[in-house]
Amino acid sequence: MRKYVIMGVQGSGKGTQSEILCRDLDLVHIAVGDIFRWNVQQHTKMGAQVRRVMSEGELVGDDMVEQVVRRRLDEHDWNFGFVIDGFPRNGRQAEFFMESYDIDGVIHLGLSDDEVRRRVLSRRLCPNCGMDYNLIADRPEVEGRCDICGHELVRREDDTPEALNARLRDYNEKTRPVLELFGRKEFVHDIDARPPVDDVQQAIREALGLPDYKPAL
Ligand code: AMP
Repeated sequence: MRKYVIMGVQGSGKGTQSEILCRDLDLVHIAVGDIFRWNVQQHTKMGAQVRRVMSEGELVGDDMVEQVVRRRLDEHDWNFGFVIDGFPRNGRQAEFFMESYDIDGVIHLGLSDDEVRRRVLSRRLCPNCGMDYNLIADRPEVEGRCDICGHELVRREDDTPEALNARLRDYNEKTRPVLELFGRKEFVHDIDARPPVDDVQQAIREALGLPDYKPAL
């Protein structure tokens, strides 16, 4: 059983790296932001409660976050383990998590604020099939259209300069102390998030003592 936390500011590639790791090792990817986004899209009661906070790039309240994480982990569909992404984001969430679960490692994807701005503001999403694009590294074949389903691409509602600044501020003020907390227990592996996706994945494998990454040809 492997239980990993992946941390890093918006745009550092947490989602992409978690998905590769989970696919290869049969782990479950638990992305707390995706759970909230699903609730907003489905117009659930929780979605209505978090929509505004999310679109402004602010953090959802700890009680609700803990409830979502507990419920998700209580599903126990993670026989081989999980990678949790986007959580914990402050000291209280970290304490809640450490009290309830053993952690095997924390991956921290490091990226400067300037590089984060460059990446996030060029990010696009297909609202129909969920495919991600990046206008710098991963452009769609036809400008503004999804390669898979042809739907018009959009920006994530919280990928605006204002919301990004709020997220960077929260990350620097609230989430960095979590890294220090985990660091004291020697859980944290600092990984440079600037190289290409495959290289970052290999660096994660080495840091966690996992078999080498073999990208599909
Ligand atoms: P993410 O996709 O991880 O950037 O999450 C998108 C949004 O969901 C964040 O900007 C927050 O509003 C909310 N969110 C996700 N995870 C957390 C968390 N651990 N604590 C508080 N808010 C969160």
